Amino acid sequence: MMRRTPLKRTGFKRKPPVRVTLPVDDELFVTIERVLPRLYRIPAPSEPRQLVSTPKFRYVRNAKLIEAYRLIPCQFEGCGYWAKGEIVGAHSNWEVHGKGKSIKASDDRCASACPNCQHELDQGKNWSEDERRRRWWDAHVKTVRRLVAANYWPATVEIPDTSTFPKEWS
Ligand SMILES: [Zn+2]
Repeated sequence: MMRRTPLKRTGFKRKPPVRVTLPVDDELFVTIERVLPRLYRIPAPSEPRQLVSTPKFRYVRNAKLIEAYRLIPCQFEGCGYWAKGEIVGAHSNWEVHGKGKSIKASDDRCASACPNCQHELDQGKNWSEDERRRRWWDAHVKTVRRLVAANYWPATVEIPDTSTFPKEWS
C-alpha cells in the first residue's frame, strides 16, 4: 500500500537534559556515565584519561636455545655442578620475563641449572623470594654471557638485555 500523504513527523521533542556539574572522581564518573548517560554532563577530567596499553610481551620459543642451556655447567652462585645431560635451562619464574599462570617465561630468560639448584629455585625452602630473584638473575646473566661467548647462543635469537636488574624487582 502506498501512502498518499507522508506520515506527519510527530512533534516529539526531547526534554533538554538537566545539566549538572559535579566534582567527580573517576569511579563516580564511570558510574554516572553508565547509569545516567544523558542526564548529566560530566566535566572533562583535567588530564586526558590515559589509555593503559601494555605492549604485547614477545616470547622467544627456540628449541636450539633450550638445548644450548644444557651445554654449560650450573651457573648458580657457588655451585658450578657439571654432568652431561643433567643441566637444564631454568626459566624465570617472574612475570617481568613473561611467566604467567599457565605459561612459561620466555626461552631467552633462563639460567643453566643443575637439578639441585633448580629444585631450590622452584620448590626449595632455603631461599627467600628476594634471594630467589637475586640468585636466578645472577645465574641468568652469567648463562647468557657464557653461551654468547662460546657461540652457543643461536644467531636467530636476539640476546636479551642483562645490563640491569629488572626495575620491577628493586
Ligand atoms: Zn647448581
